Amino acid sequence: MQDPEPFLVGGEWRTSPAVLDVAEPYLGSTVASVCIAGREDCNDALNAAEAGYKQMRDLPAYRRSECLTAMAGFLEEHAEAATELIVSEAGKPWRAAESEVMRSSDTLRVCAEEARRIDGEILPLDWTEGGDGRTGYLYRVPLGIILGITPFNFPLNLACHKLGPALAAGNACILKPASKTPLTSLFLGEAALAAGIPPQAVSVLPCLPETAEAMVRDPRVAMVSFTGSPEVGWHLQAVARTPRVALELGGNAAVIVHEDADLAYAAARIAHGAFSYSGQACISVQRVLVHHTVYEEMRLLLCERAASLVTGDPTAPETDVGPMISEFAAMAAEKKIAEAVAAGAVCCTGGSREGAVLQPTVLENTTPGMDVNATELFAPGITLIPYDTWEEAIALAADTPYGLQAGIFTNDIVRIQKAVRGIPVGGLIVNDIPTFRMDHMPYGGTKHSGIGREGPRSAIREMTEERLVVVNGQ
Ligand code: NAD
Repeated sequence: MQDPEPFLVGGEWRTSPAVLDVAEPYLGSTVASVCIAGREDCNDALNAAEAGYKQMRDLPAYRRSECLTAMAGFLEEHAEAATELIVSEAGKPWRAAESEVMRSSDTLRVCAEEARRIDGEILPLDWTEGGDGRTGYLYRVPLGIILGITPFNFPLNLACHKLGPALAAGNACILKPASKTPLTSLFLGEAALAAGIPPQAVSVLPCLPETAEAMVRDPRVAMVSFTGSPEVGWHLQAVARTPRVALELGGNAAVIVHEDADLAYAAARIAHGAFSYSGQACISVQRVLVHHTVYEEMRLLLCERAASLVTGDPTAPETDVGPMISEFAAMAAEKKIAEAVAAGAVCCTGGSREGAVLQPTVLENTTPGMDVNATELFAPGITLIPYDTWEEAIALAADTPYGLQAGIFTNDIVRIQKAVRGIPVGGLIVNDIPTFRMDHMPYGGTKHSGIGREGPRSAIREMTEERLVVVNGQ
């Protein structure tokens, strides 16, 4: 067994006696051990970040941009190693992991571009008497220390969505990765150092939740940027010392397939959005609302797609659907499906589990109150729900405490406009699935799904604040 991986405190690699075993979700074997940061290490990271922030703040925009471009280059150069890490610690099928690495370098490249575009506004102040000769300048200035907390499901790209904008804006950043997937974030820390980011500005601290929570409560943290479950996210917002908390949380995304949709295309996209990475994306398709005239055809198309997917070993290039993050997570999803079936739902395909692999599942005859509809399933399962009118479909899609993204398949502009008004989500995707995301898009949720927007341009706005300068020029 190799020595436990060290963690990164303000540019310094450190070990500790406390370690965490990282398990490979498919077979359950240990792939590595990682040292866990303690309270003292976190305190040192915060002290280093205070100094690192001053160095970042003083770097010209073109240097911050160059460093982020170099980080992206590092990821591309080491793409195969990064893919292997994601496959082994997250159990993500190889092709999906490869695409995550490419997306991550894109995210950093967008951050590098946006670093040069942090501009302001000139505001003439002579609107009324008393403002004669005065001009206002609005600048955007970095906040200081950004604490980024990330989930397991996109361990590299979501860490890039914290670190990239934080550094682009001239902040220091402390990353706290998910305990199941710390290896990719440590790799990202290596990329940051190799790219010439001032070392004190970057820390990557795998640690216990209570240790991370102590940082959330620390007055030195200027902003907490959290991605993860609603339960943890809203709790952290309540205990955070800083009022600046961005929350990117979960959902139970709906897609509406109307009678004028291209059904074969819609079915292919829905299967992709529902079953990729075993449905473990916050915008995975979960509820499929289908106009009654095309319901039976859609049901057959989706069942056929679901049943044709190759499931199993994530390291095999042909695998479409690998394991869930743990057998425990797969059992929890299997239980919700079994409960629905016991209460009258019909399982059209899937529903069975082997270890951490849950077969792609299509359910019908569900009710809105069943857990498979009302809660975030976060597994490769969808429910099919027929509707009669567009108004009914909109009401069903909106009937949820969540609001990340929704998809609608229709070409009718009036129906599209009604959906824009009627479905309260962060993003409405027309003629595609709610799972669609380009990394430079503004991205985030309404209601229980969070507050704030991610995507480099939006995140930079949230990780900076406006400063007004008034010049008396007379
Ligand atoms: P999680 O909430 O269990 O963990 C997220 C992170 O919070 C981890 O790093 C975890 O260690 C940390 N954490 C847990 N308790 C903490 C505490 N008390 N103090 C500080 N940190 C703490 O989520 P998960 O299971 O890793 O990820 C799945 C969830 O993430 C799903 O709900 C999914 O929808 C959501 N998610 C949202 C987005 C988005 O952009 N909206 C993206 C990906 C995942």
